[in-house]
Amino acid sequence: MTFNALALATRSVRAIAPYIPGKPLSELEREYGISDSIKLASNENPLGPGPKARAAMLQAAQNIGLYPDGNGFDLKQALAAKHGCDIDQITLGNGSNDVLVMLAEAFLDAGVEAVYSQYCFAIYPIVVQATGATAKMAAACPDTHPMALGHDLEAMLSLVNTSTRLVFIANPNNPTGTWVQAAALKRFIASVPATTLVVVDEAYIEYVQDGDFADASQWLREFTNLIVTRTFSKAYGLAGLRVGYALSHADVAAVLNRVRQPFNVNSIALSAATAALEDVDHLQKSIQLTASGMQQVESGLKKMGLRVYPSKGNFVLVDCGRPAAAVNEALLRQGVIVRPVAGYGLPAQLRITIGTEHENARMLAALAIALK
Ligand SMILES: *Cc1c(COP(=O)(O)O)cnc(C)c1O
Repeated sequence: MTFNALALATRSVRAIAPYIPGKPLSELEREYGISDSIKLASNENPLGPGPKARAAMLQAAQNIGLYPDGNGFDLKQALAAKHGCDIDQITLGNGSNDVLVMLAEAFLDAGVEAVYSQYCFAIYPIVVQATGATAKMAAACPDTHPMALGHDLEAMLSLVNTSTRLVFIANPNNPTGTWVQAAALKRFIASVPATTLVVVDEAYIEYVQDGDFADASQWLREFTNLIVTRTFSKAYGLAGLRVGYALSHADVAAVLNRVRQPFNVNSIALSAATAALEDVDHLQKSIQLTASGMQQVESGLKKMGLRVYPSKGNFVLVDCGRPAAAVNEALLRQGVIVRPVAGYGLPAQLRITIGTEHENARMLAALAIALK
């Protein structure tokens, strides 16, 4: 009999469609025999980490023979000061992805339910599926809606009942770039049963310039069932280090701590993230670069006659008006990696990260050729 590892996996795991990450530069260059390619595929900060984080990493590398601080005290203390919360409300993760996994492990099981939206971040269905819980997906806002493809909070609320343990809301959402209004989000959180935890994923919040935007972390005192996740992977430029965190009621954090790996965040990451919080200059520079790059990319795409969805992240979703796979292939041949999103049910769209001015210009020129 032939060996079939998949057949040995649990029923829940067998049903998971594996996550397809953005193509790394090295893989593209190996496959196509090219060099000097650019990656605008995974919403990373084109500047990478700032000088303070870089220095902290080198320093921390001296002590790598020791286990990291399993409680992440210094980083938690800096985060507690930033958010005006207690240290025991913070759960650190190996990326916020790790926190999402912990949430699912801790609160989901066969017999309970989780709710998310169509076109939501791909990790939500994966973490839910792995637990055997029932996933309920709400239809997104229709194409004619000003927030086309975005989360429809009314539709999501209609799927929530007393068996719903987790609701996932990315604000802004990836891959759509869409967002929900502050008042509507607050009403949503107030409307769900106390037995339903609402996870508001704010991976891109640093990029949001809008003064009216919901910073759900400010509502933690009001809602014991609110969990806010943040990451150092995007605006802070530390994607390769893997650091993220959740803010929640202390009792929720205590539950998450039961399933957390004791040393889930490594010592270089802990030091770099702590230093990154102090580097306000670098954060501002990164945000500024993305804001001007967003104008450059949006206007360039619109000049080509393409539909660009409104985005508050560091990326845009663009409708190619034809199957995006061929467009993507033509971009790859020119050394430009963007993100196909057919796996999200968006076969005509591409998600493009805002890069440096030069990278954006190169992407726009390559796209013009790809569309010819
Ligand atoms: C990128 C992203 C994250 C962050 O993932 P990390 O594991 O922290 O790198 C979380 N949520 C969304 C919606 C994202 O796009």
